Amino acid sequence: MRVLVVSDIHSNLPALEAVLRDAGSFDVLWSLGDVVGYGAEPNECIARLQGLEHRAIAGNHDWGALGKLDLEDFNVDARRSNLWTREVLTSQAWSYLDALPQVLVEGNWTLAHGSPRHPIWEYLIYTSTAKQSFGHFDTPFCLVGHTHVPVIFRDIPDRRDCLAMQPEERSPFPLTEGRYIVNPGSVGQPRDGDPRAAYMLLDTDEATIEHRRVAYDIAAAQRRMRAASLPTRNSARLELGW
Ligand code: ZN
Repeated sequence: MRVLVVSDIHSNLPALEAVLRDAGSFDVLWSLGDVVGYGAEPNECIARLQGLEHRAIAGNHDWGALGKLDLEDFNVDARRSNLWTREVLTSQAWSYLDALPQVLVEGNWTLAHGSPRHPIWEYLIYTSTAKQSFGHFDTPFCLVGHTHVPVIFRDIPDRRDCLAMQPEERSPFPLTEGRYIVNPGSVGQPRDGDPRAAYMLLDTDEATIEHRRVAYDIAAAQRRMRAASLPTRNSARLELGW
């Protein structure tokens, strides 16, 4: 099965459309949370996903927009974006977000936005927290988002740490010998210094992943954010990819 894995779309429709064009055909799309927040097109991004064969989990921004998380826990710009999103969400989009589970298990894959231990909030940035996470899911592989930085963590049994690797672009990577936690990076708000939208293709039969980046119309996303009076810091950072 060919799976298109996306995370942290953050209401950025031009980025999502570029990913869908670039990915080619796929059997199913898996979305790892934060469909909304920051960007200007939350309803449009949700509608686009709903038109596709897909599975999805919730992220902290999805819950923040619904009021399922205390907005005091967000920085001031993220809080403003969440309040704006709350105002514009259609009732259909609201129901969609409200029904998203925190964790999904799809065959050999566990899906969690932040981490399998604390799915909504925990950031897997360091190998030490990644190592602890391997004890919190039962499948060979886990997919996470939330940091907006692509990475492959490989467990090394009997060691206190695990390996962190940067995925190579458009080069299938076999997940052999052991267990892995993989982050595809962010579609709509990349933060690894590369402003292009990030995503991943997954071959579940071969257990290979392919990291991809694709350029999109950043100026269009920024224009729509400005027109919606969303925080300028969050539109400006799109062209820097941080
Ligand atoms: Zn996010």
